[in-house]
Order: sequence, then structure tokens, then C-alpha cells
Amino acid sequence: MADIHFFDEGVDDKSLLGNKGGNLVAMTRLGLPVPPGFGISIEAYKRYHKTGELPLKEIDDSLARLEKKAGKGLGKGLLVSVRSSAPVSMPGMMDTVLNVGDKATLISAARRVFDSWDNLRAVEYRRLNKIATDMGTAAIVQAMVMGNKDARSGTGVVFSRNPSTGAKGLFGEWLGQAQGEDLVSGARTPEPVDTMRKKMPEAYAQLAQLADKLERHFKEMQDIEFTVESGVLYMLQTRSGKRSGPAAVKIAVDMVKEGIIAREEALMRVTADDLRALLYKRLKSPESAVPIAQGLVAAPGAAVGRVVFNPAEAVRMAKKNEKVILVRPETSPDDIQGIAAADAVITSRGGLTSHAAIVTRAMGKPCVCGAEEVKIDLEKGLLESRGRIVRKGDEVTLDGNTGKLYLGALPLIEAEVTAELGELISWADGIRRLGVRANADTADMITKALEFGAEGIGLCRTERQFNAPERLSVIREYILAVTAAQKNDSLARLRKLQTEDFKAIFKVLQGKPVIIRLLDLPLHEFLPSEVDTKDPGIKARVHFLKEVNPMLGHRGVRLGVTNPEIYQMQIEAILEARAEVPANVSVMIPQVITLQELLYVRRYIKDAALKVGVMMETVRACLRADHLAEVADFFSFGTNDLTQAVYSFSREDAEKKYLTSYLEIGILQDNPFEIIDIKGAGRLMELAISWARAVKPELEIGVCGEHAGEPRSIKYFHSIGVSYVSCSAPRIPVAKLAAAQAVLEEKKKVEAKPKEAV
Ligand code: PEP
Ligand code: MG
Repeated sequence: MADIHFFDEGVDDKSLLGNKGGNLVAMTRLGLPVPPGFGISIEAYKRYHKTGELPLKEIDDSLARLEKKAGKGLGKGLLVSVRSSAPVSMPGMMDTVLNVGDKATLISAARRVFDSWDNLRAVEYRRLNKIATDMGTAAIVQAMVMGNKDARSGTGVVFSRNPSTGAKGLFGEWLGQAQGEDLVSGARTPEPVDTMRKKMPEAYAQLAQLADKLERHFKEMQDIEFTVESGVLYMLQTRSGKRSGPAAVKIAVDMVKEGIIAREEALMRVTADDLRALLYKRLKSPESAVPIAQGLVAAPGAAVGRVVFNPAEAVRMAKKNEKVILVRPETSPDDIQGIAAADAVITSRGGLTSHAAIVTRAMGKPCVCGAEEVKIDLEKGLLESRGRIVRKGDEVTLDGNTGKLYLGALPLIEAEVTAELGELISWADGIRRLGVRANADTADMITKALEFGAEGIGLCRTERQFNAPERLSVIREYILAVTAAQKNDSLARLRKLQTEDFKAIFKVLQGKPVIIRLLDLPLHEFLPSEVDTKDPGIKARVHFLKEVNPMLGHRGVRLGVTNPEIYQMQIEAILEARAEVPANVSVMIPQVITLQELLYVRRYIKDAALKVGVMMETVRACLRADHLAEVADFFSFGTNDLTQAVYSFSREDAEKKYLTSYLEIGILQDNPFEIIDIKGAGRLMELAISWARAVKPELEIGVCGEHAGEPRSIKYFHSIGVSYVSCSAPRIPVAKLAAAQAVLEEKKKVEAKPKEAV
């Protein structure tokens, strides 16, 4: 295979010429006005990387051919640009050489571009984005057109749809009498591309038409670079455009409606991160706060944090779990780590296509760009805007939805499900096999969960119902009661409270299933700490109940066995509430290790029809799954405790002390408390599921640990036959999408499998 390919040769293989090169070939083939050029292939880069040798003879021949096409000699009217082109987009990470005027410069430019694959920022970008280090880049040599030639010239960057909102139509910026570099450097503030419509109506109309053509060809929103030279439009580059989460959802849904892509494709395109960004926080009452600065709306969402002016400082503070807002005049690819560490970014220069805007949008964090009124003094570590001074460490609120900066920490709220998201999720509902329920403990939380689309409640933690101060005092009375009369009195009051809780919950659910978990928390967790207690009697009781290792302590079913009155009270409250408000309710027993515990607690339940399930969160329960399945009506894996048990890690201690080192060194690839550990906890789940279903094939098996809202884990749970996942309310759309993607990916795998020979 030759090392060099011209754009008009029709080789649009991205593994040969990279993303940019492949797209230039595609544009040329579509008949778009692309300045001529050629790509030095990725294969040539790989050889260069090993030997330091470029295909000089081929470059020489190709240059001669290019000169012929352009009708001008290099340096004699013809200038070329040399750019990198990797198979995946790495915006601004590698070098570009412009205005190349002779052969020797061209050769050294090609070397420089190839060498820049290994520069520090490119290495860091690949690490952050999990891009293979040995992929390599092509070098694209292209005739330059001059956007600064005369008054009928200009250059710009447009998206075929708005990358923040997803709205259809050209969106972007341009500059008259300028070259691309003037636009990206932020040296001159660009104009919205709408003004080009008035100043260059013909070029604008052609650009809009070509953007549409490119979208239909690539079936993707495009990010296009163009130049107009003396009234003639040239397309310099196109690629699939980076977009915010809300835009990703809207574009995917709109493209289905426009007949560009199928529903399945839309579901595969939207990522969990896109949804997370959509479900991002916003200001609770923006109308009641006065901003101190206004910039461009570069990436949506809102964040509160302490101001830092230095990317390295952002990294240091984030490591200490501080929330930080990075303030910069503008950002460059060297700042990538600081941006990754910050909760939000604001710049005083640069437009909607600036580095900060593109990178934060892709990362799904709020960003405001080009807030020109913000005067930043990097040396003194302060900014000044509208007469207010903000110093390093001061707390501010940044609203990426409106482009405003506020002093202090303003209250934020979560976003709700938009119409487009609702539609996308309804498509996911039609495809997924996994059920999606919510973990929610109170009627209010359940209302929220239903709004997010929960099909029921997979875990209602009863201990959380005692958090309100007036309730805490009643359970404390029960724990501290000395006489039987005192104990019975507090239990009766608890039962009343619980009955009301359950009635409210059942009313909201209107027959949707709910699994109520009987008390799991060790009793001492409800008491004040020993040092805070003055009363000597209470102090002694607190001391008595204190445990060396509460995680492995007197909790869950162990408490139910030794203090039967608590579980009895809860069960009676459930039955009493159900007698008044019809409900599809089951109970679940936490921390079970043996069938004997289950049998023991079952005796408390007078209604034989009430379903009783086991929370599978101890290793022993998994190993005895077949026996437990004989008696249990359902299982639900508590993967939080199960992971702790499988690892012999206390989550809190691990995350505070050594897990970060394990992840940095690479001893563990992922945090097992976030992403299910398939080889350990997962293996145990698989065994338990197969043993249990051998006894009871139809046994309903859920997952209600935090992993139930994490996309990779959800896909795994789908593959091992879990019936439903139950996660926190805002993660429900993510869970539904991941569950649908699991089905689609499975289908793709089956289709890709070679048919067996008959
Ligand atoms: C679990 O252990 O996974 C679980 C859901 O229970 P909790 O987090 O309440 O211990
Ligand atoms: Mg648990």
C-alpha cells in the first residue's frame, strides 16, 4: 500500500489517513469545494516512529503533483498547511504548521507533526480519554486558501446544529479578513455566523446547503471549518461535532424524526455522560441573584466552588475534595488536567468554539467563555468585575446555562426530564429487558423517583425514615428505655409513625411494587456520640452499644433476631397501612447469612401472602443461594455490602486511605464500589443466580446497590439474568438507556458472530 494518498483518490479509510484525512477524502468525493492535498499515511508514521525515516521520494512526487493541480509552485503562489490526523479526534493536541513555503520546510513540518503525537498534552489527552497510545497519526498536506486576502474573504467554524442546545441550523463564528489561527487564538473576538448571512449572503447560503449535505452523508452533526477567498467558499475540514449532553439527546431524537437515523442508532449514540449532563444542576432562583459577570453560554450546568486561577492549583485542591471553579483568560491544551479537575471553567477571552468551550462541553461540565468584563490578574490571584473583587479561594457560583457568574454559593437544583429525553427513554423502554426501579425511602423521594420514570421501588430503607429530629427522639427513647412499659410505649409510637409513613408511600405508588427493607442500621447509629452525651445513664448505654466494627456489627437480621419487637413492629405497620391503602408491597431482610435466620424472621409475619425476600449482600448468602431460594420469594443483591465483603475492604476507609493509590498504580482498574467487579463480586453473583434459579427458575432477582445506576455494571447485570436494577432517582434515565443498549449490543454481537457451518 502506498504511503501517500490524494484526497481525490477516494480512499476514505480512517485507519489509513485518520479522521481529518478520511473526511477530506469524503468531502472531495461528494464534490464539495475542498482545496487539493494529500495525506501521509498512519502506516508511514508508524515506520517513521521506528526508523525516523519519511517516504521522501513519495513526498517529492506528491508535491510535484499538487503543484500541478494548483497550477502554482510551492512558495511561488502556493502555500500548504501540514496538520495531524489521528483516527480519533484529539482537538488541538498535536502540532499544525501553516504557510509552508519550500520543500525543506515541508519535510520538517511533516516530522514536527508526526513527533507531536508524543508531546505531553497529547499523551495526557489520550490518557484522560482512554485512547490507545499506539494508534498514530497521519500528516495532511493541503493547499492553503487565504481568508485574509481581501474584503470579500473570511474564515469561520460552524456546527450544523447548536452544540449546546442541539437546535437545528448553522451555529458558529467567523471573522472577516482573517485566517483560521486568528479565530482559534482568541486574539480577535469572532462574530456570530449570522452576520455572515448579511455580509456574504451567497457564501452563507452555500455553506448552509453543504452543511446539510454533510450531515446527511455522515448521519452526524458536523463541525466544519471553512474559508472564503475573494467570495469563493472552500471547505477545509469536517468532523462529527462535540456537543453537550442536552444537545446529544435532542440531536439524536431529531435525527430520527428527520429520517436520518433509526431509533436503535439514536439509543446507541447517547451516552450515560450525555444524560448526566442533561440531568445537571441549575440555579434554584436565578432571578433573585445579581451576577457580577456575563459571558458566553459555552457548556450547560451550574456549579459552586472556590476560585482558582492556576490549573495546577485546581488539581491540588480537587485532590483535597475541594470544589473549584477554574478562572483563566483562555485555556490551552496544556491546561487539560486543570480543566478535568475543576467543577466548572470561566474564561475572559475566546468564543463558543474556543478550546475551553469544546473541552468542557465534551467533559460535561459547565463553562462560560469570553466574559470580557472579567479582568483577571494572575499574579495577584484575583479578578475584578463590575467593581467587585474576587480572590483565589473565594466561593462563587457559575451558571453555564445562562453564562453568568455570581458571588457566593447559590442554591442549586437538579434538572427534570425534558421532552426529548422523555421520548428517547420511551424508545429505551420498548427495547430493554431489565426492569428499572428506584431506591427511595420517603413519599417525597418516591414522588421524585416516579417523575424520573421508576417502575417501582426496589429498596425502601426504613432507617432513613427516622432521620427527622422528632422521629429520632422516639427511636432513641426506645433504645434507651429501661422498663418494659417505656419500651412498649416508644414502640407503639414508632409503629404509628411507620404506619403513616407506609400509608403515604402506598398512596404515591398507586399499586406499583415496593420492597420495604426491615431495619438494617445498628442501633447505636441513632444515638449521639459518647463525647457529646452529658447524661451519665445515656453515656453508659451509648458506650455499651458501641461496636469496634459496626459494618460487621449488630445490624440487619441479627438485630431482628435479638430484638424481635422491632421487625414485628415494622411488619405490623406495613400490614396495617396496606389494610387502608392497597399496595403491592414486599419485605426484605438485610444481612442474611443462613436460611435459619430467614425462617426465624418469617415467623413474625402473620400474613402468609406477604412476600419476603433476601438481600444478598453477604458472601455466605451467595454460597447458600440454593437453600435460601427454597424459602425466599425474591432476591436483591446489595452490591455495596457485597463488594465490601468480597474485598474485605471497608468502603469508607478504602476510599479515604488506599483505593486512590491502587487505582493510580493500576493494581485495580476501576473503583469496585462504582463499577461492579465482574471477576470477584460478579462471579459470586453468577454462581448465586445459577444455583438459585436451578431451584426456582422464575425467582425474581434484583440489584439495589449503587452499581445498579452505573451503565457498565447494568450491562453486565443484564447479561447474567438479573430481573431489575434499583438505583437513585436521577440515575433512572441512565439505567434505562444502559439497559436498552445492553439489548442492542447483545443483538449486534449475535449478528456479528460467523454462522456455524452445517
Ligand atoms: C447494599 O449493601 O448494596 C445496599 C443497597 O444496602 P446499604 O447500602 O443500605 O447497606
Ligand atoms: Mg447493605
